[in-house]
Amino acid sequence: MSFRKISGQDKALETLKGFISSKRIPGAMIFYGPAGVGKATAALEFAKTLNCLDQDCSAKGDNCSLCSNCKHIEAGTHPDVIFADFAYQAMLKKEEPEKQQSIKVDTVRALTAASQQKAVAGRWKVFIIDSAETLQTEAANALLKFIEEPPENTVWILISSKKEAMLNTIKSRCQAIAFSPLGEDVLINILKDNFVEENLARRAVKYAQGSGANAFRAAEILGEISALPGGAAFPTAFALNLPRTLAQSRAQVSFALDMLAVSAHESWIKSGREDKAQELKNLLSKLVFYKKAIARNVSPSMVAEAALISALDLGISLKD
Ligand SMILES: [Zn+2]
Repeated sequence: MSFRKISGQDKALETLKGFISSKRIPGAMIFYGPAGVGKATAALEFAKTLNCLDQDCSAKGDNCSLCSNCKHIEAGTHPDVIFADFAYQAMLKKEEPEKQQSIKVDTVRALTAASQQKAVAGRWKVFIIDSAETLQTEAANALLKFIEEPPENTVWILISSKKEAMLNTIKSRCQAIAFSPLGEDVLINILKDNFVEENLARRAVKYAQGSGANAFRAAEILGEISALPGGAAFPTAFALNLPRTLAQSRAQVSFALDMLAVSAHESWIKSGREDKAQELKNLLSKLVFYKKAIARNVSPSMVAEAALISALDLGISLKD
């Protein structure tokens, strides 16, 4: 990997490369934009570029991906680069990753403690905090003075798909780097590069809303659905085919509800009929209700079945 592998983010990458070539590296940045558009990858590539041992590469504002620093950063084993996401926090707390819903003060303290030690192997210490909008208030406060004046050769990168939900005290201390939603052509190519068949990729991207993560999820769901019976038998078959763990099944149904909303909207536009507007509105309010039900621990399979039946009544199905 190198910056070249990140598609559709020319403006953000130009800014990051500009920091490296001008040797003016901000002490704290926020990478923000939709989920799954390359923010985390860009943060790791930036950390690699700062620490790359191949000077020809780093002088050009990129990294070699081959030296020991690059390889360790990519593998998550570099002592000076920490990627703190829910999985990292779960490891620190010896808990299940699915149980992590916010970044806690202990996690921030582990990072700030590491930031006060000297770099071990690299030239730069880079601390990346994923889902930064979930930083608890105490955690955010613990972070403030460290991002305000980071020691030399230390960079904090906060990643967020909901920057508006972050505290102003944090945002005002960080340089903001915007990542854009990805275009359909870019998404189709990303899916195809990951062995998703072209037809399926084309159908999946309409549910992606510019996000690579969504595109993969839609492709996975559409792929699974293709093996299920259609028509009136579909809602029950879909519900029976959900993943086994509650967290996965909840995530799958929640995303399927979003897909239904996109299909409903599309079908309304195709019909060109004003009188269909009320039907669509009713279905959308039902979908909002089902989304809330999922969050309140109602059985995902029951929600899925009810939602798919309601959609089917209007001739809308995820299986065409
Ligand atoms: Zn390298």
